[in-house]
Amino acid sequence: LLEACGLKKIFGKLTALNGAELIVQPNEFHGLIGPNGSGKSTMMKCIAGAEVPTEGRVTFDGQDITAASPAERARSGMSLKFQITSVLPALTLYDNVLLALQGQTALGKLMFSRTRGLLHDKVMAMLEQFRLVDRAGEPAAALSHGQQQWLEIAMALAPEPKLLLLDEPTGGMSLEERRVTGELLEPIKSRCSLVIVEHDLDFIRDICDRLTVLDQGAVLDTGSIEQIQASPKVQEVYLRRA
Ligand code: ATP
Ligand code: MG
Repeated sequence: LLEACGLKKIFGKLTALNGAELIVQPNEFHGLIGPNGSGKSTMMKCIAGAEVPTEGRVTFDGQDITAASPAERARSGMSLKFQITSVLPALTLYDNVLLALQGQTALGKLMFSRTRGLLHDKVMAMLEQFRLVDRAGEPAAALSHGQQQWLEIAMALAPEPKLLLLDEPTGGMSLEERRVTGELLEPIKSRCSLVIVEHDLDFIRDICDRLTVLDQGAVLDTGSIEQIQASPKVQEVYLRRA
């Protein structure tokens, strides 16, 4: 589904990515890990179109999208939490998800009123799935930090993307909230692929099929959880930091 090859990103004198690559199959949950500053967020941005790689190529669903805008990528089925959508605290949960859906319809307001019935069902289904349906009418600002993160994920998923990109979605969450996040993400596997950046290795181990480990802007290793856990190269980097 996604192939990012030979990605290089240079900021001034700093090389954030140095020939990194990432390959994601349809319906795969792929974890992206690595030390602070290893280039994880930069890689996510190059995939989503928020940064243009200095070198390299990104192919998505058979199309070369290296030069495509974030909006074009969204239309072709890519969704990024925090970039394409963002929670508006004064609006209700319902309206936030509705806006996330509406943003996908080219005809804007007209489409919005004509398809309201259909959209209503979708909005309620998304809120239900993320255990927020009881609070549909409350302003998003009333949610806890963890619940806001779930709302963001619900909004990113509302347009039914083929690929969802999540950069540290469990940051600042309690252990219990992390556990629930894993449960909430599990059922989307039948519908889309996921690339998730995480520091919490226990969390990522439970939900991902494969991992890619970045170090200093390059791929240290990639493979199944078992392969990565047994990888001497990966152990060396994590031991070096410990
Ligand atoms: P973290 O785990 O802390 O989130 P990361 O793996 O996501 O780290 P990146 O955010 O991709 O790392 O950053 C990689 C390197 O590129 C860092 O040294 C960072 O300071 C640098 N960098 C990232 N974005 C920019 C930018 N817009 N301008 C200049 N330098 C940047
Ligand atoms: Mg980061």
